[in-house]
Amino acid sequence: MAEEKRHLGKCFDCDGITELVELDVDKGTKIMRCQACGLFHFYKKDFLGRWKLLKVSKASGLESAK
Ligand SMILES: [Zn+2]
Repeated sequence: MAEEKRHLGKCFDCDGITELVELDVDKGTKIMRCQACGLFHFYKKDFLGRWKLLKVSKASGLESAK
C-alpha cells in the first residue's frame, strides 16, 4: 500500500531534493536532509497535521549518537 507518500521535499537553501532521515511520530517532528548540500531541515507538525519548517542547520544536532 502506498498510503505513505515518500518523504521528499525541497531544500531551503539550494533547491535540492531533501529526504527523510528521522521521523518522531510521538513528538510530531521529522528531520529531512538535502541530498545536494547536506543541510538538515527540522519540521514540526502543526495542529492541522501539516509539516512546518522550524529551522535549517548544517548539523543534525539530534542524532549525534548515530
Ligand atoms: Zn541543499
